[in-house]
Amino acid sequence: MPGSSAQQRQRTACPIEGCRESFTNQNRARHMRAAHGIETGSDEYKALFESALPVKRSGESDPFIDGMIKPLRDEVRRLAREIEKLDEKRTEARTKLARYERMLRQLDPTSFVARPKNASPNGSPEAIEAKRKAVFDFIEQNKERYADGFTAAGIYRDMKAAKVEPISSADKILRIVEEMHANGAIRGDRKIRGGAMQYKLITSTNGG
Ligand SMILES: [Zn+2]
Repeated sequence: MPGSSAQQRQRTACPIEGCRESFTNQNRARHMRAAHGIETGSDEYKALFESALPVKRSGESDPFIDGMIKPLRDEVRRLAREIEKLDEKRTEARTKLARYERMLRQLDPTSFVARPKNASPNGSPEAIEAKRKAVFDFIEQNKERYADGFTAAGIYRDMKAAKVEPISSADKILRIVEEMHANGAIRGDRKIRGGAMQYKLITSTNGG
């Protein structure tokens, strides 16, 4: 990039989980809007980039900062617990829904009731099953790569990079991964930055 200063050239990694883009200060706003739908000036944008809070220096005790830290920590813990509970509920409902849909399909294949919010135009039960299988197979084939854990967003990114067919949307892959978790095919490892769940494969050998 001839002509631009070092500061302009400096790139920052995108703070959104699952996004591997980086950007200069100049195109940061454009990336956040185009890739993540986060508008400049929104609370979310401010939280990501414009936190102009005082910084506590190590060894120093600042009553003002300390007074802010405790309630914030409590609120963070409370919200994390709340999200976990909601995630559990959602996963539970989704698993039940999938199970009952499967039963219904078996009992009466001629009048399969579609999901209330029809997923996609090519969302026939066969197409959905093929997509689900593609995700299962991809994770299975990349066991070693994901030995240290993976996220649904990561699977989506890697499947896209590997040009896997049929590919599901990021949202669909999240649902498939959550279903695998609910069915005990994978286990939840920990929440990572951005609130996404990192999963791990369950090794059949219990080796460690
Ligand atoms: Zn991004």
